Amino acid sequence: MPSRNLDILCGQCGEFILRYRKEGSGQLIRLYLDRILEPKSFASFKTSGGKSRLPVLACPECNQPIGYPVEHESNRLAYRIIKGSFKKAAR
Ligand SMILES: [Zn+2]
Repeated sequence: MPSRNLDILCGQCGEFILRYRKEGSGQLIRLYLDRILEPKSFASFKTSGGKSRLPVLACPECNQPIGYPVEHESNRLAYRIIKGSFKKAAR
């Protein structure tokens, strides 16, 4: 499956939120934690156990919410991203 890296930027202020390894050509609906490349702080959440331990994904600059934690397919953690809250930039 082809993969490419995307930068997710805040839709409101343009701040860098995270870098994501996207697989396939479908629409971006969820951000799986194990495909978030930057910032490295997300790595610690992967093993923290359960979506209740996961903070809401928000812009560090203006606090605009970007995504909400969800558990997908056998405890795989992800963020369901909020339509219109972010911008994508190909890397
Ligand atoms: Zn922002």
